[in-house]
Amino acid sequence: MADTPAEHIVVVDDDTALLALLTRQLQRAGFEVHAFDSGPPALEAVSRLVTCLVVADWNMPGMDGLQLCRAVRELEAMQAVQQVYFILLTAHDRKEQVVEGLAAGANDYLTKPYHEGELLARVRVGERMVRLSRELLQRTVELHKANAQMAVLAARLEQQARSDTLTGLPNRRCLFERFHEQWELSTRSGLPLSCVVIDVDRFKQINDTFGHATGDLVLQKLAEVLRDSSRRPDLCARYGGEEFAIVCPATDLRGAAQLAERLRAAVELESSTWSLGPPRITVSCGVAERRSDMPGPDELLRLADAMLYEAKAHGRNQVWRCVGAGGGERVPAETALSTS
Ligand code: GH3
Ligand code: MG
Ligand code: MG
Repeated sequence: MADTPAEHIVVVDDDTALLALLTRQLQRAGFEVHAFDSGPPALEAVSRLVTCLVVADWNMPGMDGLQLCRAVRELEAMQAVQQVYFILLTAHDRKEQVVEGLAAGANDYLTKPYHEGELLARVRVGERMVRLSRELLQRTVELHKANAQMAVLAARLEQQARSDTLTGLPNRRCLFERFHEQWELSTRSGLPLSCVVIDVDRFKQINDTFGHATGDLVLQKLAEVLRDSSRRPDLCARYGGEEFAIVCPATDLRGAAQLAERLRAAVELESSTWSLGPPRITVSCGVAERRSDMPGPDELLRLADAMLYEAKAHGRNQVWRCVGAGGGERVPAETALSTS
């Protein structure tokens, strides 16, 4: 077994001869002894040592043993890590006095004149208690640390499970969760809720011509534009391979169409500066607003998808919105950009 370091023991007695004797006996027993002839410096030593034993005389001028014991227990209450085993050394041996000493917080007592063997036996009990408390404290600290690490890890995993690794945007799973939440909120508040789906035009061709890695870079750049162009409450997510979606709370069809058109124009304009390979990237968008007869968010997405299909069918690089019962119309580029 590895050598365990000597325990610290604070000894306090105003009788200096007895203090010297106690010090010698405890040092011989292998303790690291801190001797004091009054309470205040002993209390200061206890607060510094944190974990230790105390053998204190009861009757001392100024701060007596009982006062010292109470002060040590107050210190323990303040510093959750403080662990002190307190033995009162006393000439009092009446039961009421023993009870008073223990009530003040002493762990044990010894009557004067004491027997050296008994002193050492009692001090050894204290030593075991102090070691056990220290181990317990260490284990508690380790447990807290492990718990904190687990919490960080769980949060990171949760974050990873909800975001797309390529673009860092929320993924499809996250989109659906938030979409359902926003649906509920809109049901309760009566506020509008809209949705935009965005698809890269002829992306397969980009991959085929410039390589898959360039295709990936294009998706990352697009994610940046989407993030920069949407407002804070809007939830922007990677919906599928080269498709994105934005859920727009408290936004009607007109507002969502404006957002989509702003996005479409930004991609068209900015992609010419990306110098990734393809000279220009464009996107098509479909927009729809929640209607009272819709059963849920899937239906809203389906309508926005249908509008995206219209945008593709009518030549791409354009925005279509759903009007009436499933009919669609193209959002004119100029109007959408000039109307606020
Ligand atoms: P359209 O204008 O009709 O949308 O044509 P498109 O070529 O964009 O559409 P299509 O659905 O035919 O092709 C989509 C392509 O997107 C095919 C697929 O390989 C590619 N793709 C999907 N996910 C990724 C990805 O993470 N990285 C890259 N580089 N390509 C992807
Ligand atoms: Mg596409
Ligand atoms: Mg697609």
